[in-house]
This record gives sequence, structure tokens and C-alpha cells, in this order.
Amino acid sequence: MDKKSLKQFEKLLKAKRTELQAAYLEKLQRSGDAGADGALDSADEASANYNKEFWYSMSDGDRQIMRLIDEALRRIADGTFGECIHCEKPIQKKRLEAVPWARHCVECQELQERGRLEE
Ligand SMILES: [Zn+2]
Repeated sequence: MDKKSLKQFEKLLKAKRTELQAAYLEKLQRSGDAGADGALDSADEASANYNKEFWYSMSDGDRQIMRLIDEALRRIADGTFGECIHCEKPIQKKRLEAVPWARHCVECQELQERGRLEE
């Protein structure tokens, strides 16, 4: 895959990541008991709890997507992005445009959905 396309996918993935994070931070803020008394004695401790809470507040589906996005960003970094992790053939560009964190080509994805593909 050419550098320009890679950059574009990287941008898409990062935007999606930010979007997921923003949605959950907002949800947390609305649910509201974090820092209710307004006193944050230990900023480090507060942010550690915050991250943990953030992570657990995510639905399984979103958590899964976050993980896939991180994996995809790693594949961009090591140059294997856009290859099916199973058969190593290039993943169709259209598919990547719809699901930039896709790990499988359409054929392997179908096998996986039918439970016929080993991870
Ligand atoms: Zn494949």
C-alpha cells in the first residue's frame, strides 16, 4: 500500500479512536459521581481511576473496536497494514475504507463468521 493511503487510514483510525473516547468521557461526565466534591488531592490517582473507569464503562463491542484500532495502528507502524492476517493477501481497499481496522479479507472474514477460521 502506498504511503499516502496509509496516512489516510491512520487518520481515519485515529479519528475513530478519538470519537470513541470522547463519547465515553462524555458519558462518564454525565453519570457524574467522579470528583463530586471538586477536590482532587492526587491528580495521578484520580486519572488512574478515571482511566480504569473509562475502560470498564465501555461496552464489549466498543472495547473490541478500540483494541482492533490499536492493532491496526501497530500494523501501520510495522508495515503490514492492509494484509489479511490469515492468508496475507491484500484486504480489499473498499473494505478498509468501510472498516479500517479490519484484520481479514472478505473471504477469511466469512470463514471466521462461520467459525471455520482459527485465530
Ligand atoms: Zn484472507
